[in-house]
Amino acid sequence: MLDLRPGDYVECVDNSPRSPISTIMPEGDRLYTVEEVRFIAGGYSLRLNELAPSCYMGGPCTCGDCGWDARRFRRVYRPEARKLELFKAMLRTLKPAIADPVPIGN
Ligand SMILES: [Zn+2]
Repeated sequence: MLDLRPGDYVECVDNSPRSPISTIMPEGDRLYTVEEVRFIAGGYSLRLNELAPSCYMGGPCTCGDCGWDARRFRRVYRPEARKLELFKAMLRTLKPAIADPVPIGN
């Protein structure tokens, strides 16, 4: 089972075309977000929000059936923006770890 789902961040680790029709390839070491994951014969196919793959009918894909082999990507863990906001809010409300100095000898 592939541990990728729409909205996940992925990094392209292999952008060498394996088919002559694959003229549109993701950039190596660049981050993308997963638009769609599909099970196909022999593995998984990914579509990305940032880039449309080459289409078997020619040009950038608009048919929705084309994608890249999921093995070209690795998942990158980044906090979702909403979770990051919660964490920032926690930091803002944290009590100081050290007590405020108290004057001695009063
Ligand atoms: Zn297509």
